[in-house]
Amino acid sequence: MERDFQEMRELMVREQLVVRGIKDEKVLEAFRSVPRHLFVPYSEQHLAYRDHPLGIGRGQTISQPYIVALMTEALGLEGGEKVLEIGTGSGYQAAILAEIADTVYTVERIMQLQETARKVLDLLGYSNIRFRIGDGTRGWPEEAPFDRILVTAAALKPPPSLLSQLSEEGGRMVIPAGNCWSQDLLLITREKDDFKERVLCGCRFVPLIGNEGHKDDDA
Ligand code: SAM
Repeated sequence: MERDFQEMRELMVREQLVVRGIKDEKVLEAFRSVPRHLFVPYSEQHLAYRDHPLGIGRGQTISQPYIVALMTEALGLEGGEKVLEIGTGSGYQAAILAEIADTVYTVERIMQLQETARKVLDLLGYSNIRFRIGDGTRGWPEEAPFDRILVTAAALKPPPSLLSQLSEEGGRMVIPAGNCWSQDLLLITREKDDFKERVLCGCRFVPLIGNEGHKDDDA
C-alpha cells in the first residue's frame, strides 16, 4: 500500500506540479517525500493525491497540491530560513516547509485541528516545527522577525502585525487577499520600509478569522 502511495506521489509531482511550471527541485523533492494521505481523514486517503482540496473537518480544508507547491515555491526557500505559517490546518503545508526550511512556526485558531496535525507531524519525526494555538493575524511577536511568512487563509488585506514581523532584509510573505468569493494570491517582498506586492494568481481560500482578519460572523 505504501508503494501505491509513493507511486501516487510521483504521479502528482509529474502531472500536477511539473506540467504547471513548478521547477524548484527542493519543492518537488518535498512533495515526493511527504505522505499527504496521512494528513487527510482516513476515509479520504485514497483521494489524497488528487488534483483538488479536501475537507479536514470543522469546515476547513487541505489545499490542492498545486496551490501548496506554488505558495512554497514563491517563498524562494534556500534552506536556512525561519518561517511563520498561519493556519496549520492538516499540518501538510507545515511538513512541506519543514522539509526545506530551518524552523517552522505554525499558528492555528482551532485547537482540535492543530492537535490532530501535531500528532501526525510528531509521528513523522519533524523536530523543527513549533506550534501555537491562537489568532494568527497577530503573528508570533516573541519570535519575530521571520524570513518568510505564509498565510493559508484569506484576509481582506495583509494584517499589519504580520507585515511588521517580516524580516526587513529580503523578507517574503505569500498571502491570499480579497473577499470571501474572489481573492488574489499575493507575494509581498520587504526591504527596510519598502513593501512590494505582486499578484501570483487568482485563488479561493477559507477566511482568515481574527483581530486583523474577518470577524467570526462575516466569514
Ligand atoms: N495549511 C493548511 C494545510 O496544509 O492543511 C491549510 C489550512 S486551511 C486552508 C486554513 C486554516 O487557517 C484553517 O485550519 C483555519 O482554521 C485557519 N485559520 C483561519 N483563521 C486563522 C487565524 N486567525 N489564525 C490561525 N489560523 C487561522
